[in-house]
Amino acid sequence: MAGNSTRGDSALNAARRQRELRALGDGTTVDVLVIGGGITGAGVALDAAARGLRTVLVEKHDFAFGTSRWSSKLVHGGLRYLASGGVGIAHESAVERDILLTRTAPHLTRALPQVVPLLPSIGAAQKVLVRTGFVAGDVLRRAAGTPASVLPRSRRIAAAEALRLAPTVRRAGLRGGLLAWDGQLVDDARLVVGIARTAAREGATVLTRVEATKVTGASATLTDTLTGETLDVTARSVINAAGVWADQVDSSIELRPSRGTHLVFDAAAFGGLTASLTVPIPGSTSRFIFAFPAAHNRVYLGLTDEEAPGPVPDVPHATDGEIDFLLDTVNTVLREPLSRSDIRGTFAGLRPLLRTGGDSTADISREHAVLTSPTGVITVVGGKLTTYRKMAEDAVDAAVAHAHLPAAPCRTRTLPLVGAVSGAARDAIAAPPRLVERYGSEATTVLDQHPGLAVEVAPGMDVTAAEFAFAVEYEGALDESDLLDRRTRIGLVPEDRKAAEPAARAAFE
Ligand SMILES: Cc1cc2nc3c(=O)[nH]c(=O)nc-3n(C[C@H](O)[C@H](O)[C@H](O)COP(=O)(O)OP(=O)(O)OC[C@H]3O[C@@H](n4cnc5c(N)ncnc54)[C@H](O)[C@@H]3O)c2cc1C
Repeated sequence: MAGNSTRGDSALNAARRQRELRALGDGTTVDVLVIGGGITGAGVALDAAARGLRTVLVEKHDFAFGTSRWSSKLVHGGLRYLASGGVGIAHESAVERDILLTRTAPHLTRALPQVVPLLPSIGAAQKVLVRTGFVAGDVLRRAAGTPASVLPRSRRIAAAEALRLAPTVRRAGLRGGLLAWDGQLVDDARLVVGIARTAAREGATVLTRVEATKVTGASATLTDTLTGETLDVTARSVINAAGVWADQVDSSIELRPSRGTHLVFDAAAFGGLTASLTVPIPGSTSRFIFAFPAAHNRVYLGLTDEEAPGPVPDVPHATDGEIDFLLDTVNTVLREPLSRSDIRGTFAGLRPLLRTGGDSTADISREHAVLTSPTGVITVVGGKLTTYRKMAEDAVDAAVAHAHLPAAPCRTRTLPLVGAVSGAARDAIAAPPRLVERYGSEATTVLDQHPGLAVEVAPGMDVTAAEFAFAVEYEGALDESDLLDRRTRIGLVPEDRKAAEPAARAAFE
């Protein structure tokens, strides 16, 4: 029988995948078939399984293979939406941010200071706008019930403090900075894996390397992309969470993707940056780029917003124009300009935006939508990482209503993800802080892997072979790329990826 067979066990691995695929072959009808293993599909599978529905999720590649690994890894309070009058969506973001930071994923999130340096290039009007925006962000935070102990209130800071947070900022003419706080993910792909494993713990069958085709509101053909074997499943409801590929699953969907690009630097290039260095885009009053500290001692610099018409590639790429734009803009506030030779990697992702008319993609609504096609397929698309839980709740509500499913009420507001831990319990974990930050309460399980695996996967890298072993045994990693490009983010720097490849191969021997 599919679904609910391994309730309580969050470990995903090749053996479980094979067992569950075989069980699915028996031809059981499931309550909910979810297509797509990004943040949205994983969230839907968790929501549905936690309501007691027999749930199967299929992902063509790996968890977070699509857009969900190319984000800025921020848990947004929704400030940006206020600028365009979207009070409802801004409030929703702030509420979901609070849920992630305080209840469901405190182990994978943290408070991130954002600093806007007040340099001569920032005019008086722009300064007033930023300050007003930050104060509005405080109101949003309070309205969502997030205490200042979790996200401190915004304030103006002196030049010395701005330089402490962002040491490579230009000193000449620096009048101080504006400081606000938002949420940051340890890593977006890790959040997706955490949600997928929690869904599995709640009884969902969660299968990677399985593609859905011939999708209707009540059935699909599933292909095991590792063996080429196919099977047909029937489902009382089918939820399409295929992101920028949603229109290939259901042709009634019309998308208008936009590309966002980031550059990857060594942390040293930004001299020990501990905040998100937020830089207004010259000529715009509401758009910024930002550089922020990220996993593996790196800094990411983003973000562009470019129309991306045409066929959707598996892996999008940064353009030269985007790279120049990001470098030129950040250099407006840096003492020593950065150049192309400082860049260690780039990454780009496509936002799955619904086609809504003739606006530029920057102005298209970032709200999510739940749509039911004439064949009964329910598509959930748009939104963002931060609001995945609400998107999932809305999609499952729609499925329950559409197929009259016998479901319990949504439980995900208070359901901690696998590894969730905070406060004193977190402080008491007997493992290095780096492991606690990535694995939460499971850090000790990583440490418990074979003692011979407590070695770096390549010289100077902050990842051990034990982490690779844990990913294979517990996090559903099926090949080297899963380890290098999603369970860890080593792969964002091609040179580092090459150096760690032998260790990744060894993890499967
Ligand atoms: C550059 C950028 C920065 C962003 N920054 C942030 C941020 O900081 N904070 C935030 O909250 N949000 C951010 N977002 C938004 C957020 O990343 C996306 O909204 C979200 O990741 C979309 O997730 P998804 O699950 O809908 O799509 P995806 O992650 O793309 O998942 C869809 C999955 O479906 C699978 N699939 C496709 N077809 C099939 C099939 N036929 N069968 C089986 N599987 C299939 C794909 O392989 C893929 O894994 C950002 C977006 C971009 C582009």
